[in-house]
Amino acid sequence: MKKTKQSPSPALSANARTVLERRYLRRDADGKILETPEDMFRRVAQTIASAETRLETGTDAAKLEEQFYRMMVELDFLPNSPTLMNAGRELGQLSACFVLPVDDSMESIFEAIKHTALIHKSGGGTGFSFSRIRPANDVVASTSGVSSGPLSFMKVFDAATETIKQGGTRRGANMGILRVDHPDIMDFIMCKRDQRVLTNFNISVGLTEDFMKAVEEDGEYDLLNPRDGRLIKKLSARKVFEHIVDLAWNNGEPGIIFLDRLNRDNPTPHVGEIESTNPCGEQPLLPYESCNLGSINLARMCNDGDIDWDKLGRTVRLATRFLDNVIEVNKYPLAQIDEMTRANRKIGLGVMGWADMLIKLGLPYNSTDAARLGEKVMKFIQDTAHETSADLAEERGPFPNFNGSIYDKPGVRPVRNATCTTIAPTGTISIIAGSSSGIEPLFAVSYVRQVLDNDILVEVHPLFEQIAKEMDFYSPELMKKIAEHGTLRDLPEIPEDIRKVFVTAHDITPEDHIRMQSAFQKYTDNAVSKTVNFCHDATREDVAMVYQLAYRSGCKGVTIYRDGSRDQQVLSVAKSE
Ligand code: ADP
Repeated sequence: MKKTKQSPSPALSANARTVLERRYLRRDADGKILETPEDMFRRVAQTIASAETRLETGTDAAKLEEQFYRMMVELDFLPNSPTLMNAGRELGQLSACFVLPVDDSMESIFEAIKHTALIHKSGGGTGFSFSRIRPANDVVASTSGVSSGPLSFMKVFDAATETIKQGGTRRGANMGILRVDHPDIMDFIMCKRDQRVLTNFNISVGLTEDFMKAVEEDGEYDLLNPRDGRLIKKLSARKVFEHIVDLAWNNGEPGIIFLDRLNRDNPTPHVGEIESTNPCGEQPLLPYESCNLGSINLARMCNDGDIDWDKLGRTVRLATRFLDNVIEVNKYPLAQIDEMTRANRKIGLGVMGWADMLIKLGLPYNSTDAARLGEKVMKFIQDTAHETSADLAEERGPFPNFNGSIYDKPGVRPVRNATCTTIAPTGTISIIAGSSSGIEPLFAVSYVRQVLDNDILVEVHPLFEQIAKEMDFYSPELMKKIAEHGTLRDLPEIPEDIRKVFVTAHDITPEDHIRMQSAFQKYTDNAVSKTVNFCHDATREDVAMVYQLAYRSGCKGVTIYRDGSRDQQVLSVAKSE
């Protein structure tokens, strides 16, 4: 690592430095911090650029390192947290997303728990489908006993996660999926009703096309024992759908994913079937596959009230190369993961700061123009990333599973990566970048944010403060009032056009949320992380309507949250004492 100190970046806020000091910067055995945030970016840039030498691409690695460094330190692009934390360090595990197989045997289940522990230790999140496990009270021939079913095994995964707590990096996160045709589905849907259980899991029901059709026709569908395919019973699809809606209305879980849709877009069906996603739902993966993510900060891609398309294009090309290099220098926690990840070479380039970009362009998030622009921006990113991946394939070869993949067609340029784009939540990296997260609207113009377990940060949106000062309506009293309201809606002292542009998650309708999610999904290879916010008074019918809308508008899954429906919320509007 270079010994020269990097000069301090003016781009990094005090909040960003605090977050980085807590968990990301290198420390000695006594816990003393050994690097500055700028040194961290240098460490990452150098490690990721070193892939060029390893691959003998003929690229000037030192020059590329400088470009990678600038792109990160200026907050134009950030890779997912594990890359920032671990690149150039002993652990060297750089991916955020993993999916592990869980078969219907003790060996497989406890193997998966062991593998989960190894992945969590390195800062990655894991997703599983529990659909292959035989239902509770089924026969176990070898012991003449009865099986305990997927739910009881999920508790073991949860306890293991709780115990590991990711010594030094971050606490683990899991996604648990059960197919809607599994006999234990009704219990699964209810399993997080008590908010104190399975706290290290997000859960989603895997919906099939058959099921959605049965809901529409008010028909029944079959529940099958995965052990032998036997029909266990039939259920009313609508009743099950209503049960899911009821529980999601109650406290946001379970979410839903559209399994057949994930498989329709599976780039390598000849290698395997997609059963699960990573913890936050944006990355469908095959068993033993991992993926590294990175997000472009759209707030930094504007110039004088317009989108700087040249800069955006340059950043996409550089970021795509960066993420492909990550696969090369990554240290995988398991041989199977190493093999699978290198064979498909999936990367997930996405965005953050979308709401900030809209503010800079003067477009309200909840307008059709904003959704249309979302499509245009994401199409541009997707097309440029695919072109870059094809250039990389010429230089370094296509991904090894290319033959037989959906890209393997006459006249189509081979690509280096089975997928290129994913919209991540950017929960922590957006704090580092000081931007709005992912493609979410602003949560509030002022709010209290809980980060890294229990730390609290109070934030006022910097663009709002700047505009208020420029337009001469800034006063400390008004800022306090906004913090109490959380929305500008009822504050006539703020000019109307400003109120329209600074809309927050609660000002906009659930339909607006879905419209934006589906706009980005249209040009995203993987999936889109998005929470559809409902006000506290929303009804179950409102939730059901949004699920149907998401299905009809091409989304791959939905996560909803009704304000005030959980004891602990990650984000909450500041309350006056
Ligand atoms: P970040 O901003 O830290 O890079 P994101 O909020 O974008 O991360 O989440 C991306 C993915 O990273 C998640 O879907 C999940 O796979 C993984 N992840 C996020 N938080 C955790 C966590 N606490 N433990 C393990 N994995 C996590």
